[in-house]
Amino acid sequence: MATVLHVPAFEDNYIWLVVGGKMNSAVVVDPGDEGPVIEALERHRLTPVAILCTHHHNDHVGGVAGLLERYPLPVYGPAAESIPHCQHSLRDGDHVDIPALSLQLSVLDIPGHTRGHIAYSGHGLLFCGDTLFSAGCGRLFEGTPAQMFASLMRLVALPEDTAVYCGHEYTAANLRFAAVVEPDNRDVRVHQQTVQQLRARGQPTLPSTLALEKRINPFLRTSVPSVRQAAERHTGRTLETALEVFTVIRRWKDDFRG
Ligand code: ZN
Ligand code: FE
Repeated sequence: MATVLHVPAFEDNYIWLVVGGKMNSAVVVDPGDEGPVIEALERHRLTPVAILCTHHHNDHVGGVAGLLERYPLPVYGPAAESIPHCQHSLRDGDHVDIPALSLQLSVLDIPGHTRGHIAYSGHGLLFCGDTLFSAGCGRLFEGTPAQMFASLMRLVALPEDTAVYCGHEYTAANLRFAAVVEPDNRDVRVHQQTVQQLRARGQPTLPSTLALEKRINPFLRTSVPSVRQAAERHTGRTLETALEVFTVIRRWKDDFRG
């Protein structure tokens, strides 16, 4: 079965390489920069077979053109966004078939961070770009809180052991916010230790799992009384629904300097 390699880019981006098959084939997910991808492909002697993009931001697509100058690759991306050189425009429910890796991924529409953001899921893997982060979620640049909330609920409905591959290494900062929202959440404290050790060794904190995210991610815990109460204290009014709680903590996080 496929394995997934991480390629760090810029300050805190991850470009993911899904690797497998007889030819050591690689699918490149969200290549914001071609340089580190080419370097990783050569170092591991991999043959790239496709590029998958989750959304149009430059730190996720900026390396597409440079990769195509070297390798003839099909480019997949959301139909609702403009992705450079995209030949396969994807909508919710579509499938991406990568025969070289015997890989079939399903496409989920998950708007919120951007209007057309998509995720790829299958074989226990989830590539969710800037929608779900470990212990956090993406900022609402184009979508509404209701859209983002619905998108996160869709992702969290996938099997609990799904490995979550996010677009950025934001986990430590997200956990600092999570610990303010839920000071009594022991899973947050324990995971802070793990993350600190991983980062001290220069290792990624990803992939996460949906099981872990359900325990530590305040944006997935908006129905938990302690999270609702923290949001109510922050905003100074009573909150009736999980969406209202989500809306408050998303705005709270925007202004949070941990
Ligand atoms: Zn983005
Ligand atoms: Fe990003």
